[in-house]
Amino acid sequence: MAIASPDLVSLPLAELELFARDLELIPIPTVQVVREGTGFDFLAVNRAYRLAGLGVIADRSPMLALLSSRIDAFLRSTDMRSDFDWSIGQVIDSRYYRVTLARPTPALRDRCQIAFIDLTAQVHTERSLRREMTTDSLTGLPNREGFSDMIEAVQADRSRHAVLVIDIDRFGRLNACLGGLAGDELLITVARRIKGVLRARDALARIGGDEFGILMAVDDDAEEAARLAERIQRALSAPFRLSDYEIGVECSIGIAQGDDAIEDVEELIRNAQFAVKRAKTGRHVESYQTQAFTLAREQFAMETALRRAIEERQLRLAFQPICDLSSGSIVSFEALARWRDQNGVEHDPGDFIPVAEESGLIVPLGRWAMDEAARTLRWWDDMCGGDCGMRVAVNLSAIQMQRDDIAPVVEAALIRHDLAGSRFNLELTESAIVSDPDRIAGIMHALKALGTSLAMDDFGTGYSNLAYLQKLPIDILKIDRSFVSGMLADRDKIAIVRAILSLAQALGMRTTAEGIESNELAQTLAALGCTYGQGYLYARPLEADAALSMIVAARAAATASSAS
Ligand code: C2E
Ligand code: MG
Ligand code: MG
Repeated sequence: MAIASPDLVSLPLAELELFARDLELIPIPTVQVVREGTGFDFLAVNRAYRLAGLGVIADRSPMLALLSSRIDAFLRSTDMRSDFDWSIGQVIDSRYYRVTLARPTPALRDRCQIAFIDLTAQVHTERSLRREMTTDSLTGLPNREGFSDMIEAVQADRSRHAVLVIDIDRFGRLNACLGGLAGDELLITVARRIKGVLRARDALARIGGDEFGILMAVDDDAEEAARLAERIQRALSAPFRLSDYEIGVECSIGIAQGDDAIEDVEELIRNAQFAVKRAKTGRHVESYQTQAFTLAREQFAMETALRRAIEERQLRLAFQPICDLSSGSIVSFEALARWRDQNGVEHDPGDFIPVAEESGLIVPLGRWAMDEAARTLRWWDDMCGGDCGMRVAVNLSAIQMQRDDIAPVVEAALIRHDLAGSRFNLELTESAIVSDPDRIAGIMHALKALGTSLAMDDFGTGYSNLAYLQKLPIDILKIDRSFVSGMLADRDKIAIVRAILSLAQALGMRTTAEGIESNELAQTLAALGCTYGQGYLYARPLEADAALSMIVAARAAATASSAS
């Protein structure tokens, strides 16, 4: 073991020279040795050595016998000195020394002195301090610090293990009701019961006020930890008798498997603590695996990256044309967010929009999308030398509508880019309306007052409360792709699409069919009376300049046909 005590690290060489002259004057146990043929002889031990009880005759000292190979190696070397930590004896009565081997002068090459600085007391003090620091005084179990040490040791061992964190539910309340003493007693009893179901190879620690940690050895079976969790819950389910009360205790348990990917002890404990939190929000007598954490961590990583992407303007909009089904001409473009991160990875909006919604980033993202869509439309107008004849459709998420004041955001974008409100089409989903119908109705009227038109996106997939359709100022129903694609081969889908179309007609709304990928489908939908179509048949979502080329070509074709 290393005994780190810098102040005692080395013996001044000058003293050793003094020793060479008079060994007896040296206050530190010292032995003098001389090289003899292929071996060496002990010349003498000093008074300090004798007084320390290390021996009287060097030749017979077992301590020196144990060091003989080191002494031999030193005498064969050309080194002037060598210091090392050394211990002797069994665990309980071990003694610890800093040993210094030194040649008195370069001239006396065949001699050396061995000095022993006794560090035993210091080591013991350090150890008991460490023990105190790593032990919980109430239960006598290792504390959080001690728990980390234990995990570190098994990780160094590379043996398979799992960490369980057990949190007593509502302990704070129990503590407050029963008083601190009874609370302490409860903790001690809980610790005892948990200990009772552990195997000898598992270790228990108290890592927080009402939190226990178990480090368990895992053989091959990943379910082992879950089974232990069950045993613990069973052990704690019997009522506890404390002074005059009988109380029931429930606990939540989180499990983290210590796999090779997790090298950091703290990370492993954190994983288990995270699992406990999840266990508490679910059925609190349940254990969770780390996958839940991995998922949350991935989401968190995506959230962090997305936040940066918004700040650093890594997002862009793609534009997908929406066509009039009867004439085939383009009437608008839907703006769809695209994100390529700094590693060149293109993320799917189906992945990052939900993360943006959950984290609240949908507010800055939505504001950016609104402004960017308006900016692009302005650019198209400018490139066409006036109104390019297109509208742009922007998606509004339900959460964005709850959290942001949308109407002023839309108005600001229109003003900044000098556009009429009629150029904007806003797509909302049914979930937005369900969340808070009255407030959303107010917002929708405000948006209508700006001149924009409103579309109900993904219609048919949400809660479809038909009562609101009639009350709200909706101009267009967008029939969800799931009903449209494959519709020709599916009677049920056709029936649904027909129903939506006749509903829209009855309410005086126009319709857009999403996900049109074939001519046949476009013709059928046109025949059924659907107003607009959107899908890969016409174009995939395009970069702004490619969309502009499409607009320019469509305008040229229209001019040519009107001229002929
Ligand atoms: P959405 O508003 O329903 O947009 C239509 C989605 O259908 C787009 O997916 C589009 O690429 C895809 N699509 C269009 N035609 C076809 C087709 O013929 N076949 C197939 N298989 N797919 C087609 P995308 O771009 O992946 O966007 C997914 C969703 O993400 C959007 O669904 C929208 O809800 C959301 N989203 C995208 N950008 C934004 C945004 O800026 N803000 C908000 N709040 N949501 C957005
Ligand atoms: Mg949409
Ligand atoms: Mg849609």
